[in-house]
Formats: sequence, C-alpha cells, structure tokens
Amino acid sequence: MRKITDIFKSQPITFSCEIFPPKTEQGYENLKTTISEWARLKPDFISCTYGAGGGNREKTLDIVQLIQNRHQIAGLAHLTCVLNTKQQIREIVEDIKRRGVRNILALRGDPPLDNPNWQPGENNFRFSKDLCADIRLQYGDFFSIGAAGFPEGHILCKDRDRDAGYLKNKIENGAEFVITQFFFDNADYFAYVERLRRIGVTARVIPGLLPITNYENMIKFCKMNGTTITPQVKQIFEPIQNDPSATLKAGIAFAIQQSRALLKGGAPGLHFYCLNKIHPTQEIWEAVL
Ligand SMILES: Cc1cc2nc3c(=O)[nH]c(=O)nc-3n(C[C@H](O)[C@H](O)[C@H](O)COP(=O)(O)OP(=O)(O)OC[C@H]3O[C@@H](n4cnc5c(N)ncnc54)[C@H](O)[C@@H]3O)c2cc1C
Repeated sequence: MRKITDIFKSQPITFSCEIFPPKTEQGYENLKTTISEWARLKPDFISCTYGAGGGNREKTLDIVQLIQNRHQIAGLAHLTCVLNTKQQIREIVEDIKRRGVRNILALRGDPPLDNPNWQPGENNFRFSKDLCADIRLQYGDFFSIGAAGFPEGHILCKDRDRDAGYLKNKIENGAEFVITQFFFDNADYFAYVERLRRIGVTARVIPGLLPITNYENMIKFCKMNGTTITPQVKQIFEPIQNDPSATLKAGIAFAIQQSRALLKGGAPGLHFYCLNKIHPTQEIWEAVL
C-alpha cells in the first residue's frame, strides 16, 4: 500500500478524513458501510484514531487494514504512546508493519480520564517527537510518519512560538507531514504555517476541519482541545442551536466557505473530522472539488 508521502508526489492537494473505532459491534458494522461510501469518493487516505473515541488498538488496526485491503485506499494508523512502554509500542509498530500499513500518525495522546495523573517514566516515550525518532531508528523510511499540529497552540502550550518549536522537533525526528487540530478562523491556520516556515519547517500542513452539525457537541470538542469558538461561529450558530436542520444547513455552508478559502490561500488539502458519517462531509467535499 502506498505511503502518504508518495501520494504527495503526484497530488498537490489531498482530500482525506478521520474515523474512529466504534465501541459496539453494531457500530463497527455501520462503520464498514460508511467506509464503503467514503471509498466511492476516492479520498487520498483515511485515518483512524486510537484511544480518543474508545475501542481498542486491535480495532484501529483492523479498520486501517480493511480500508486498505477492501478499498485500496491508503490507511493512516494513529498511534499514541501514553500508558504503553517503549517495548509495547515497538511491538505495536511491528504489528502495523506486518499488516501492510505504511502510514503512522505519531502522537503522544492524553492520559485517560480514569488515570489523569499518569506520568511517563524511563520506559515510556515522553513526547510524540520521541516516538517519531524511535520509528525512524527502527524502520528507516519504511513508514510515512505524520504528526499533530495546533494552529492555536496546544491546549497546554498557548505560547504559539514555543508550540511551533515543538512541532519542528517532531519533523526533525522523522515526521514528514502535519495534520492540524480543527479551527474556525483560517487566519489561525495561515499564521501557523507562516510561523512554521519561518523556523524552517517545510512539511505539508494539512488543515483539519470539523463541520458543525450540533452546536452543543462542538462546544464540548472545543473545551477538550482548546479550539476557539470565534465570534462569527457564535453569531451564526447560537441563535439556531435548538434547530437541528438549520444548524446542519449553516454548518455545511460554513464548512464549504472555510474549505474554499483554505484551498484558495494555498492549503495542500483538507482533512475532515467526519465523526464516522458520510453526511454532511460528502456534500461539503463535492461543493469544493
Ligand atoms: C490530527 C490529530 C489527531 C489526533 N488523534 C488522536 C488519537 O487518535 N488518539 C488520541 O488519544 N489523541 C489524538 N489526538 C490528540 C493528541 O493526542 C493530544 O492533543 C495530545 O495532548 C498531544 O499529542 P501530540 O502528539 O501533539 O504530543 P506532543 O507533541 O508530545 O505534545 C504533548 C504536550 O507536550 C508539550 N511538549 C511537546 N514537546 C515538548 C518538549 N520538548 N518540552 C516540553 N513540552 C513539550 C506540548 O506542548 C503538549 O502540551 C489527535 C490530535 C490531532 C491534532
């Protein structure tokens, strides 16, 4: 299966989405249908989270394999290092390789809610950059490695220059592309890319987009990751928050506008947090193609 960096060689702009492993067997069956629907849109790659939405690591890798084997679409396996020892992580990376997956999003992850005070020790990777370095050391250029980027700074590092420096460390240690946290003000994304370019980071920075379909859920997501709810978003969505169809309609319109402006401004693609659904991302996608 192709590496994402090889896809970049022929695709100046990529379209991709993120899914997560469902918690139930029925959810898993439904996701298989959604993946088939996604496959018809021919995304350049599909990523699958680990940890964030529940499910176990096996499921993440099963899903990535299914994306690749059944649909011939490049899969991107998220890999987090919290809670696992270096040795365990190396075994997982070996499993990823054995399954024919060539793309890893190398993340630190967050301590789980039931163990919020977990701290890395000698036998753990402390930061994503350490995971990037280890994968490169063990596997050379077998994998395409991606890293998470934060246009507004990570929630625990609001100093944007320092945060950009941490991203640079990940690239220096082997990451080759970046997928960002979602944001609602494109100026944050463009300023982030400029900040990175100024310090010598040339890797592709693919913007992550969350189409707003439910105002309350969107607020929850923003609280978790520190994304700013801009005055424009408040103004559009607050008055219609109890009207699901108006919210959906406005969410599609907002995402189309945001996507078009990103591409017009030079973004090298769009990565959609589609929440395991084909709608409304399909509509947004087809409008900006
Ligand atoms: C595209 C994307 C996909 C994601 N997928 C998942 C997923 O599948 N599963 C999941 O659990 N989470 C996921 N996350 C969330 C992510 O795991 C958390 O945001 C996590 O807190 C940071 O991960 P990181 O890889 O950026 O870590 P790191 O780059 O290691 O950063 C972690 C923290 O340490 C700080 N830091 C970094 N380097 C240093 C240093 N040298 N010295 C001091 N401080 C430093 C950073 O500012 C940050 O606060 C995703 C995030 C994004 C943007």
